[in-house]
Amino acid sequence: MTHGTERVLITGITGQDGGYLAEQLSNDGAEIHGLVRDGDEAASGLLQRLPQAQLHTGDLTDTEGMRDLLRVLKPSEVYNLAGISSVAQSWEQPTLTAEVTGVAVAVLLQTAWQLTESGNPVRFVQASSAEMFGNPQRSPQNESTPIAPVSPYGAAKAYAHHLVGVYRARGLHACSLILYNHESPRRPSSFVTRKITQAAARIAGGDTEQLALGNLDARRDWGWAPDYVDAMVRAARHAVPGDYVIATGVEHTVRDFVAAAFVAAGIDDWNQYVRVDPRFFRPVDAVEQIGDPSKAGQLLGWAPTVPFDEIVARMVRAENQPAE
Ligand code: GDP
Repeated sequence: MTHGTERVLITGITGQDGGYLAEQLSNDGAEIHGLVRDGDEAASGLLQRLPQAQLHTGDLTDTEGMRDLLRVLKPSEVYNLAGISSVAQSWEQPTLTAEVTGVAVAVLLQTAWQLTESGNPVRFVQASSAEMFGNPQRSPQNESTPIAPVSPYGAAKAYAHHLVGVYRARGLHACSLILYNHESPRRPSSFVTRKITQAAARIAGGDTEQLALGNLDARRDWGWAPDYVDAMVRAARHAVPGDYVIATGVEHTVRDFVAAAFVAAGIDDWNQYVRVDPRFFRPVDAVEQIGDPSKAGQLLGWAPTVPFDEIVARMVRAENQPAE
């Protein structure tokens, strides 16, 4: 099946995943539309990489504006990647988080369903998050793991995830991808991985300021971001819509990440360069998150392609190169 004529709308197109997704779909021949917020500074960078992308200025919480945009574009695929991106921010702005990460998805789903009903089928992909599992009792987690968020971010994602299921039951081709942490050189430095690779490169270059981190024993299932957007496209184009855990199934500690990053930067004994600072410990944190991607493997033929050490090495290497 070719999909060369797809018209896609990506919310959150200026983020890490949005950029990779837009590039993949554009290479596939799709017509790319993206929602950007007024004054989004990342928009010009995206347009440099992908001049053919058509950007629409708007806000997810503008119900009428979003309905109008969807009705005018009649996209065949909508990828909802927008939202408050950090757990920390969601504690500071819980109502904004509920509106952007939760309620706004209702408008997208309802409009997608109405378009579908009127003869313009829309396939919908929601970027869900492992954060909605909170502190799971069992590892690894899969699509049946109880949803029990421990942050406003997780609660808003949980609402959106449930609503995808509601509209799927009503007949919409709607998928929810439960994404575990996924990294790349484009990851913002507010995430621990990029914070570490930046510091490793800086210290390898002769800087002596130590890297201050929080809980080195926290464990995460870290994958390669372009693999995760590929899973989104596979889900959208699979005959039957569904929910999928997208993860590697392998976990590492923050300490493992530090060690791998310093080795990649040419430093074997990293201990002297790193200190633990209580400021970076979180009052509520999922200590361990690991996903079981078997369903995505079986139904979508998806598998992670980049092992942990290689993800870290690529990120460290990219620190010394101009931004891509
Ligand atoms: P998250 O899983 O989406 O919250 O992604 P992060 O990359 O922000 O955090 C991953 C894990 O690293 C969490 O368990 C954090 O508590 C832990 N961590 C330890 N030190 C730090 C730090 O200095 N910054 C951040 N962002 N996380 C840290």
